[in-house]
Amino acid sequence: MNRKIIEELKALLGSGRVLTEAEELICYSYDATPKEFMPDAVVFPHDAGEISKIVKLCLQYDTPLVGRGSGSGFSGGSLPLKGGIIASFTQMNRILELDEENMFVSVEPGVINADLKAYLSDRGYFYPPDPASYEFSTIGGNVAENSGGPGAVKYGVTKDYVAALEVITGEGVIINTGSKTVKNVSGYNLTQLFVGSEGTLGLFSKITLKILPKPEANSLILVSFDDINNGYKAAVKLLRLLNKPSMLEFMDKSSIESVKSYFKSDKIKIDGNFLFIIEADGSRAEVDKSIAEYEKVLKAFSPIFIFSSGEDEDKKEIMEARKAISPSLRKYGDFKINNDIAVPINKIPEMLLFLEEISKAYRVPIINFGHFGDGNIHVNIMLHKNDAEMMERGESSKYEVLKKTVETGGSLSGEHGIGLEKKEFMKLKYDGYYMNILKNIKRVFDPGNIINPGKIF
Ligand SMILES: Cc1cc2nc3c(=O)[nH]c(=O)nc-3n(C[C@H](O)[C@H](O)[C@H](O)COP(=O)(O)OP(=O)(O)OC[C@H]3O[C@@H](n4cnc5c(N)ncnc54)[C@H](O)[C@@H]3O)c2cc1C
Repeated sequence: MNRKIIEELKALLGSGRVLTEAEELICYSYDATPKEFMPDAVVFPHDAGEISKIVKLCLQYDTPLVGRGSGSGFSGGSLPLKGGIIASFTQMNRILELDEENMFVSVEPGVINADLKAYLSDRGYFYPPDPASYEFSTIGGNVAENSGGPGAVKYGVTKDYVAALEVITGEGVIINTGSKTVKNVSGYNLTQLFVGSEGTLGLFSKITLKILPKPEANSLILVSFDDINNGYKAAVKLLRLLNKPSMLEFMDKSSIESVKSYFKSDKIKIDGNFLFIIEADGSRAEVDKSIAEYEKVLKAFSPIFIFSSGEDEDKKEIMEARKAISPSLRKYGDFKINNDIAVPINKIPEMLLFLEEISKAYRVPIINFGHFGDGNIHVNIMLHKNDAEMMERGESSKYEVLKKTVETGGSLSGEHGIGLEKKEFMKLKYDGYYMNILKNIKRVFDPGNIINPGKIF
């Protein structure tokens, strides 16, 4: 990299907003994947104008530029694969406007999801997208990865809330997409093209999101089945209800086994072969009505255990069962291949059976849980990183899992994106013609290939 760009960046932003020391840069060299790449510098822009100038400098010096929120990505999106500059959005963290009449909020990209939720909640509003990382991930990162969480079953994912974007393209041009309207059919839908673009088409400087009124109350049910088929049928029936659940999380046999020995409770039993955590939200009366209806549906399918509550303490305990999965995995290995596949809902039982077979065939523990209503299965292949032969078996089983996912008509990623982690598998799903369309789209927005190069393809 031509070091002259560093001097120019310092002249533009002041030396306090340009990091170049190795001990500072290392903090920006990793995300939640096991991979690391060192940037040459990290900059902290404050507005669209500065981002535009940074992009133009990167173009002039042919230097890669990678946007970064909190660096919590699971696909390597914020890693500077080819070195260059990282634009950290942590100093662009203001909530710009709450438009109560039109029900939109506009924010800078570095706002933490939880901070936005809290700000809105204080005022009676609700921003639903809820990745498990919501307490530390940024709205910019959420939009770039089209993040989602348990609430997606009722409320959808990030894409369902992004109404308008201010974006700086790979040529340093500031464009505005979308509008503060529910309906917008003026030309191609560029807003949605940027959502989930994994930071490869441009950098967001302002994000306008749709908001909802805050639900008044919620209650949870924990239910488990010995018969997987019964559990599946009960869950599908819940999804057909008019007042469908606002959360329908599942744990399969492998994750139930994993958590069992960790989780101690007088009230809740973690057992069986298929376990669900179900939420109803709305007004208190609606919630009580929904819970009664859900219980009736579930009981018709002979559960082995069912417990429901609207009490905060009980709800916390129920959620602990789900939260215990990740820490419990450590007993199976010190290295995790973390897949976030999504399959059509009617393929979930087939996929879970397949995962059991693959686990046996490749002699690797595979622990699964996920979001039933979105067909999103977190497939955790647990390995020992010092066992090279096992690591190889793990990689082969990952290939089998992704191949099967595509065969079911599913998606290689339901939440985390392709980034570096799955780009070699895109060919399982897409042919050369399709991949060329993606590459051509990238060229339109970033003809110099400086914005987050080397990701997705
Ligand atoms: C414990 C844990 C739990 C998680 N749970 C979930 C989950 O339930 N659901 C889910 O979907 N994900 C989950 N994730 C993954 C991750 O948190 C999300 O992908 C999140 O949206 C990333 O946000 P971030 O701010 O950390 O972005 P980063 O990791 O910093 O960046 C992610 C991508 O966004 C791009 N980007 C960042 N800011 C901008 C910007 N202003 N303009 C353009 N591009 C930008 C980056 O270049 C990169 O490609 C989890 C991660 C962890 C560690």
